[in-house]
Amino acid sequence: MFCPFCQAQDTKVIDSRLIGDGSQIRRRRECEICHARFTTFETADLALPRIIKSDGERQPFNGVKLKGGMLRALEKRPLSTEEVEAIFGSILTEIRQLGEREIASRQLGEIVMRNLKKVDQVAYVRFASVYRDFQDIKEFAEEISSLAKEKPKTRKKKK
Ligand SMILES: [Zn+2]
Repeated sequence: MFCPFCQAQDTKVIDSRLIGDGSQIRRRRECEICHARFTTFETADLALPRIIKSDGERQPFNGVKLKGGMLRALEKRPLSTEEVEAIFGSILTEIRQLGEREIASRQLGEIVMRNLKKVDQVAYVRFASVYRDFQDIKEFAEEISSLAKEKPKTRKKKK
């Protein structure tokens, strides 16, 4: 990296350490020509991937749109704003961890559905009915009944 003072091409790293939660590296550098010292910060590129629509069109990732879809699915469901934020955050983290520059809109939908399914099955079904192309009403009904079968495991029956 060039020296910002004399534009010399050689600067050496004299110290480097992780800062914060470890997502950033702070480096102390020294110019070998003018001996000026300066600090640089290095951060991972956390840009979200572009979304490939089913017709092949690429669109920039739109968190507002994604959250809007989630909120519609979660309408009148018993989740606090904090819980919704937490789900949204974990969805974004999961997408970033893919490390892809582009992902298919279908894959994005699957990630959202998986996260919704963990917290609210009604919201999951609502979201799925929009994002997943249920081939027909039978397939949709099968998904609903598979959810219904999962319930007794967690809830004890009275009487
Ligand atoms: Zn210099």
